[in-house]
Amino acid sequence: MKTELYLDSNATTGILPSALDAATRTLAESYGNPSSTHSAGLRAKAILDGTRTRACRLLGVGDGRLMFNSGATEGIQTAVLSALCAVRERRPQGGLILYGATEHKAVPESLAHWNRVLGLGLEIRKLPVDGNGRHDLDVLRALAPQAVLVCTMAANNETGTISDLDGITAALAGSPALWLVDCVQALGKLPLRLADTRIDYAPFSGHKLYAPKGVGMLYVRAGAPYTPLMTGGGQESGLRAGTENMPGIAALGAVLAELEAGTSFRCRAELEGLRQRLVASLRRAFPDVVINTPLDMSLPTTLNITVPGLTSSQLLDTFDAADIRVSAGSACSAAKALPTYVLEAMGFPDWRSSNAVRISLGAATDDATVDAACRRIEECGEVLRHRGPAGTGAPLPALAAPAAEMELDADDLLAFLAAQPAAILVDVRDDVEHVVSRLPAPLKKAVNVPLARLTADVPDWLAAENRPPIVFFCRSGNRSARAASALRALGYDNAFHLGGGLALAPAWT
Ligand code: PLP
Repeated sequence: MKTELYLDSNATTGILPSALDAATRTLAESYGNPSSTHSAGLRAKAILDGTRTRACRLLGVGDGRLMFNSGATEGIQTAVLSALCAVRERRPQGGLILYGATEHKAVPESLAHWNRVLGLGLEIRKLPVDGNGRHDLDVLRALAPQAVLVCTMAANNETGTISDLDGITAALAGSPALWLVDCVQALGKLPLRLADTRIDYAPFSGHKLYAPKGVGMLYVRAGAPYTPLMTGGGQESGLRAGTENMPGIAALGAVLAELEAGTSFRCRAELEGLRQRLVASLRRAFPDVVINTPLDMSLPTTLNITVPGLTSSQLLDTFDAADIRVSAGSACSAAKALPTYVLEAMGFPDWRSSNAVRISLGAATDDATVDAACRRIEECGEVLRHRGPAGTGAPLPALAAPAAEMELDADDLLAFLAAQPAAILVDVRDDVEHVVSRLPAPLKKAVNVPLARLTADVPDWLAAENRPPIVFFCRSGNRSARAASALRALGYDNAFHLGGGLALAPAWT
């Protein structure tokens, strides 16, 4: 089997070996509660203090506060709650809340939520961005005097666009607004000296930089208003109650130690070199590929592309079959891709924003991964150019509700195939996916009948005298469930499918 090439690091990263080791040791050995005053508690507290000291040093927190929490969504909530509680006290006459049009959903959602819950009724307005995804500073300058809270990001998660934080600072000169900067994608990739800036709140998330999910940090400038989101046992100096996620904090500490030592993470120039290799391969694979990321003002780890004539799900499915994990730049349903609001805000036409694909390296991605990805991308391009994506074909017959008895899991399937040597295995993925993937040994004899063309083969199967078992499979189990239930709806009771698809068949890899 091919090894998985994980190029979706803006969604989440794997975990560094030293972080895994730190988390495991904390779970097994240093499991004390850092609030306890006995020796086990003191050992846990030393881990907590060590991570905080390191984070404060790395981020230039100065006399500001830095608390641990569950991640950036919580940090954003806490910052928004804090700012809006202060606004309620200070400015009962109202004011404007501004947020960048390309912010992560956590920002507008929490603005709307807390504005409603606190009964403020403030106007929330989107700050437009230009074609590079950078904030419109003229609009910001004009609105800044009325603004009470401004939310922007340091770098965008879909395109990698790096915001002009100095320009925003200048545009906010003289404004009473509090300023939240979502620094999730910047950690480990951009230098941050927070106390030297005008930033009031900066949320971070561990799982975007090789620490586990469920741990994050929030920076609060000295003197910036603060209201705890959670109260209780007084942890985090009363700023965030709840017993700390010690394995997560220990792991984050290990990641920050490597960041500080410069051991595991690549410098900007090296990462840029990796991205350029990907761009070159993508151009060879898809000569008319369009790059949506502004390469000269973005994180070197992010590359957002659209290939004219290919939907994001076609590209994604093909890459996934070739064991390259990337993501759609857009919210995407199987039937129709929806335009991503980030690319829409940048003014891109619908075909471009609906079919965007994001490739994102981690700060620790190695050359071998990118070299292998480049080769596989070029293979995918070759196959797609010569075969084209599957057509739509005739509609499938009315579907019966997927029945549990037609579903086989990976272990069931091996036993089933041993007991039923005449069974027909059918890969219902598009033919391109079939060609670029290496099927595991038990599935090697499968025939490929893409779901879109299934109706053409159904009459032959129905006419067969002994109706051998047919087992459909695909990547996730969705298309195969549709195929099996369609066949059963036509009276072919011997139709089955691999539940969870190839993705959940790790024992064979
Ligand atoms: N902000 C940005 C820019 C992100 O990319 C993400 C995660 O996708 C978040 C906020 C939310 O982070 P978390 O998963 O830690 O809640």
